Formats: sequence, C-alpha cells, structure tokens
Amino acid sequence: MKAPEKRGESMHPYKIVEIQFEETMRITGITYSEKKDLLFPFREVTVEVPVRMDNGDIEVFVGYRVQHNGARGPMKGGIRFHPEVDLFEVRGLAALMSLKTALMDIPFGGAKGGVTVDPSKLSLPELERLTRKYTQRIGLILGPFRDIPAPDVNTNAQVMAWIFDEYSKAHGFTPAVVTGKPVPLGGAPGREEATGKGVAFITSLAAKDFGIELQNARIAIQGFGNVGSNAAKFLHQMGAKIVAISDVNVALFKPDGINIPEAYEYYRKNRTLKGYEAEGVEVLDREDLFKIETDILIPAALGGAISKEKNVDYIKTRMIIEAANSPITPTAEKILLERRVTIVPDILANAGGVIGSYFEWVQNLQEFRWEKEEFFQRMENILRKAYTSVLDLSKREGIDLRKSAYAIAISRLAEAERLRGSY
Ligand code: GLU
Repeated sequence: MKAPEKRGESMHPYKIVEIQFEETMRITGITYSEKKDLLFPFREVTVEVPVRMDNGDIEVFVGYRVQHNGARGPMKGGIRFHPEVDLFEVRGLAALMSLKTALMDIPFGGAKGGVTVDPSKLSLPELERLTRKYTQRIGLILGPFRDIPAPDVNTNAQVMAWIFDEYSKAHGFTPAVVTGKPVPLGGAPGREEATGKGVAFITSLAAKDFGIELQNARIAIQGFGNVGSNAAKFLHQMGAKIVAISDVNVALFKPDGINIPEAYEYYRKNRTLKGYEAEGVEVLDREDLFKIETDILIPAALGGAISKEKNVDYIKTRMIIEAANSPITPTAEKILLERRVTIVPDILANAGGVIGSYFEWVQNLQEFRWEKEEFFQRMENILRKAYTSVLDLSKREGIDLRKSAYAIAISRLAEAERLRGSY
C-alpha cells in the first residue's frame, strides 16, 4: 500500500509515520509483522458528497474517513475541509491520532476524515448541506463507541453541531458521537481553547527543561486559526513575548512583542490579520515569519510547513513546538536535529485538543458537566505525565523527542493488540 509522494520532499504524513515506525522498532521491540499490522489502517471509506449549490447546480465533492486503529478504544479524530485533502493525507493523519491517543493514555484509537473542498468558496447554507451529506454517507461507521469525529482544519463547533444533528436524526439523540460541539449542545467548556492551551502548557514545560526562560524568549507563531491564536493568547498570559504571528495573508513582526489580546480581537472580528495596524508592527510576507530569529518557533497551520525546499536553511531557532500535525518534513527534521534544535512532536504538543474531546465525550456519556477549571486542571495533568515520560525515555535512550513519543505510543498499541488477541 504505497502512498504516492506527489508532494515532493514535503511527503505525505503517512510516509512520515512509516519512517518513524521503522526507526523506533529497536526501542519498542515490536516484530516486523506487528509493525505491519499496526501501520495498516483498519478501515477506509471514500464517499461521494453531492451538494445542491445556491445557484441550483449540483456539485460533487469527495469525502474520506479513515479508521486507523481501535485496539485501545473507539476511533477518534478530526474532520478537515481543505482543497488539498486526499486519501493519503487522511490516512497519515489517522495514524497520528492512534499514536496521539496512545501517548496520552486516553481510551481511544485513531481516525481522521476530510472533504476535498475550499470552504471559503461556499456560502453558509452550502457548507451546512455539504456537512450533512458527508455525515449521512459516513454515518454507518460512526458512533459513540465506534468512531467519534471532532474539529480540524477549517471545521468548527457549528460544523460539529450539524454532524451531531444529522447523526441523531438516524440514531436518536447522540451528543457523544462527535466532540467540539457548541457548549449549549453538549460541548465542554474549555474544549475550544484546549489545543492552544495545551500547546502553551507544553511550551512552558519544554522551555524550562531545555534552558529557555519563557519570559524573555522570542516566540514566533505561524498560523492564527483556533490553535495558533489560542496558543498565542495563553503564552502571552504566561508573560511570554510573541514577536511574530502570521495567517494565510500576512505576517506581523514586532521585536519587543505584539499586543496579542488586541491582535486576537482584530482577528476574531475580521477573520484575517491583514489590515491590523499598531505602532512598531511591521507587516511582512507570511513566509518571512520563518526568517525571524527566535528562541521558540510554533508552526500552527498545515502539514509540511517547514521543509528543505521552502525554508529550513534560514530558520534560526532553538526549539520548535509542533502545534500543527506533521508540520516538518523528515529531511528538514534531520537538518534541524543536526543543528541541535529541540523539536517537540505534534502527538505531544497538540494533544490538548483530543484530551479535551475525551472530557467532552465522558461528560456526554454521563450527562454531566464539569467546570472549566476542572477541565484544564485534568488536561494539564495528562499532558504533564505524557511529557515527562517522553523526556525520560529520550534521555535514557539518547533519542530525540519524536522517537521517544512514538516508541511509547507504539508499545501501548502493540500491547493492546496482543492482549486482545486480534489474530
Ligand atoms: N483534530 C484534532 C487533532 O488533530 C482533535 C481531534 C479530536 O479531538 O478528536 O488532534
């Protein structure tokens, strides 16, 4: 099952996961057959998503849901709407989810879904019809104890509300079938900020352990969607200086720190950073963010953002926190590791989101709601435990943090498969 490497050096995430599996075999002690079994996805579904457009035409989109592994619990993972979504990307991201939930030791497996579409070109009613049709088509394989979607790139609480509603039409009231819902519909207070808050928390732990003083650190964040903007907000609250931020249009740079609450408000209102003006803020091309010398760089947009082709040669930083899924290509990673840059991998750095989803699911099943403080406290406990185990193993084995995180996750997956006796 070979994924075409049509993205050149940036490579599909599935290929990247495969490479990491190979490289951690020595530490995990898994057999070659176990590796093959763990890598191979459990089930993949491709669906036609025909949508009546506002002008009366019918447009046909393609949607996917890949369920990667369910040995440790119901499969779990987001749904993204993006023009570059394809089966191979979704497959890689689904595998990452299995690893993420295993690393966090929460009772889920991994899945991912997506529709190949540019949602910015759809009206709100078109987006709703697309979401409902996609839900109908993949609904057969979803369920609170089977597979539970959540938000990802270009999807949000409203999209989750439509999924919940559409699924409930066929199966009865089922809030636990999807997470990241609006709070009045069973969403958990804290879930929306959870990924960004988790990124900020992991950044603070890693900065301390690797000798970077957060208060004086120069931080750049690429991407200002839900994850990037919330990471910026919480890091700013911790007293960190965010010297640069960017979105799909522009990058903003201010050497003594951007006023994040102001930029956050501006972005919430205008859905772009373009046009934001403040004293001392320089407006740059979005790619120029990577040229700024920093202590901590946080890619929080799409996969493959840091590559040899694009930018690794001029990146000057001490630590990279992967808020996005799979933002660094393997070639770029090798170069960065040779330069002794610390890389905190996606399955650790951005796991606050799926931990938050776990809490939402638990609350839906119990028909009970926690306070936000409890939500964040419990989330930080899980993240801290996972972070400490990754750091300890990396020191013990003399390996980088990604290999350590993968080794822990793969060992847990293999153990669950063995105990269940799946063969
Ligand atoms: N899409 C998020 C991720 O990549 C969240 C997944 C979830 O909460 O299920 O981790």
